[in-house]
Amino acid sequence: MTQTPPVDIEKLMGELHQLATISDCAEPPPAVTRVVFSETDLRGREYLRSLYDEAGLSIRVDPIGNTFARWEGSDPTAPAIGTGSHTDAIPHAGMYDGTVGVLGGLEAIRSLQRAGYQPRRAIELVMFTSEEPTRFGVGCTGSRAMSGAMSSDELIALVDEAGENYDTVRRQSGFQGELSEVRLSADYYHAFVELHIEQGPELEASGTQIGVVTAIAAPATAEFVVTGEGGHAGAVLMPTRRDALTAASEMVVEIESLARKSTSSDLVATVGKLDVHPGAVNSIPSQVQFTLDLHDIDGANRDATLDAIGEMIEQVAPRRKLSVEWNILHADPPADSAPQIVAAVNRAADSLGFSSTEMISRAYHDSLFMARIAPTGMIFIPCRGGVSHRPDEYSSPAQIAAGVQTLASSLAELSA
Ligand SMILES: [Zn+2]
Repeated sequence: MTQTPPVDIEKLMGELHQLATISDCAEPPPAVTRVVFSETDLRGREYLRSLYDEAGLSIRVDPIGNTFARWEGSDPTAPAIGTGSHTDAIPHAGMYDGTVGVLGGLEAIRSLQRAGYQPRRAIELVMFTSEEPTRFGVGCTGSRAMSGAMSSDELIALVDEAGENYDTVRRQSGFQGELSEVRLSADYYHAFVELHIEQGPELEASGTQIGVVTAIAAPATAEFVVTGEGGHAGAVLMPTRRDALTAASEMVVEIESLARKSTSSDLVATVGKLDVHPGAVNSIPSQVQFTLDLHDIDGANRDATLDAIGEMIEQVAPRRKLSVEWNILHADPPADSAPQIVAAVNRAADSLGFSSTEMISRAYHDSLFMARIAPTGMIFIPCRGGVSHRPDEYSSPAQIAAGVQTLASSLAELSA
């Protein structure tokens, strides 16, 4: 495709803003909350469906709500090209994370339609269910199940805070069929490309329009339950205390120190959630639950750090006479982008006159799992200050338009 795909950025921005109004956040847009399988998530899906219909795409919804909007190609036997991302949003998030890849993916398809392009391979826009771990504690359940990274038994074992399991919740949301049908075969997609905001500061800092993702860092999450002994804060003297919060605090600081000492500068460790029981001013904390989120581009180093954290916990707990149970929720390997997708995206950015740079994705995305079943790549666009998962997350219309044009050109080349 030699001509520039005519992106209608006003229409796309209007749709991004419209989707942002479908939110459970107490604050108005751009603050957004859209948790998977909530009423709001379902209303968001309905809005998307109306746009897919308008664009003449055929829609398939799988048993867990992964949605495929397909633009047929001239060769019905050729494996399709996939693109897409997610529209769920963590509480009090922004309006661009994921949505730019779904609505931007739609606009990429529409721009090719407007240009009179006829793909040989079908182009399929995917809206993945539950990229965010908000409800079930594990992210990317849609793409994990699609790629076989998670089995139907593992999916059913996931429970939300109300104690409802994944299978019940998805059925209550109107998604039927056997969970085993979610998995796609390894030859289903000829290629998969996801457009996403960077969620980091590198592109903005270097003034680069397009990031061509060459690899996605390996993520792991774990949860810890520290159990000590509660008691009256005025009556129990210090020497006999087994305070779960002071023990957890030591562990949290040690986790930070282990991460800082890592030989890999890409290793990052975060404790983002800490629940104190009973949580009263005058009561010694008897139990603390906390989470750990760990990423590194080097999977072996990530695992070694996880082991070191485990050893540290095993030392701190007996010294403070507390017990700790911990559980790794997931520890996924890193993924490399396919060289042919990296090359196609580089060519697309070059031909459109956009500055671009190859980079790794430190956050993980549905593409981490799609890479298991398809040659995969990602296109990043800058976001202001590298800010994401916050209402002030922002990419400009011009930045989004550049990403959509690059995606459209990449899809055109890959689907020819
Ligand atoms: Zn995202």
